[in-house]
Amino acid sequence: MVTVMTKIPKTHPRRESLELRERLVDGFASGIVAPHGLIAHGRGEMFYYLLGERTVKHARVAARAAATTLIVAKQPVISVNGNVAALCPRAIADLSKAIPAKIEIGLFHRSDERLSKIQAALEREGVSQVLGFLPDERIPGLEGARGLCTREGIYSADAVLVALEDGDRAEALVGMGKKVVAVDLNPLSRTARSATVTVVDEVTKALPLITGCVEELKGDTTEMDRALERYDRDENLRAVMRLMASNLEQLGTEPGSQ
Ligand code: ATP
Repeated sequence: MVTVMTKIPKTHPRRESLELRERLVDGFASGIVAPHGLIAHGRGEMFYYLLGERTVKHARVAARAAATTLIVAKQPVISVNGNVAALCPRAIADLSKAIPAKIEIGLFHRSDERLSKIQAALEREGVSQVLGFLPDERIPGLEGARGLCTREGIYSADAVLVALEDGDRAEALVGMGKKVVAVDLNPLSRTARSATVTVVDEVTKALPLITGCVEELKGDTTEMDRALERYDRDENLRAVMRLMASNLEQLGTEPGSQ
């Protein structure tokens, strides 16, 4: 299937959001994104809307804890799926270099064709090794293709970053004793509520934010300790939910909202 990317006018008030949609539609047309990924993006958009489509301070606090968790890990791995590869391959490459961390593709709807395309998209951004094509292990408790992983990568990792992840997989990784860093716009998702650190922000914003924190905190043990001390996952998620509720309340009382 061939589609032509729609040019979004620079003055369009929802330009950023529409550009992200374009990237996903393009990724779908080129075989990187599964149809289900388009639906998952829509769910994310809804939560981003409630958040005010901006990076909130709670995400910044979580990003510092996320960066610390990845820096101190002995074997950190970034897990990549089709949506993330279509939205921000450069940001994945940058984060993996900054930590440094391995990259492994993990797909719910797995096909060799999609894997090759995601791998190629990451290689175009300068990533030299992408794991996941030849899985030789399974994540215990996960049936089917989404349980596949590599011994060299996710199976042996002590910390795994997952973005836009399905709750079962995130919970299973936590069950294996790993520290899980999640990026998820839905503070109510099982992923958000089971990860060790959850950054509630749009992934194209969250990954560069975490990379910036890695660059700033690396080697500064005092600040890294502080970052972990300041972060409480459940309190952070509750604060984000309160913010979403108050945004909704405010929107409902603004003139023209009837
Ligand atoms: P769970 O299984 O964890 O309870 P879920 O069923 O919503 O949640 P999926 O649909 O598999 O899980 O995962 C997609 C998740 O990613 C959703 O929570 C959605 O809010 C989030 N999401 C989608 N697009 C983005 C994005 N661009 N940035 C950050 N998060 C996103």
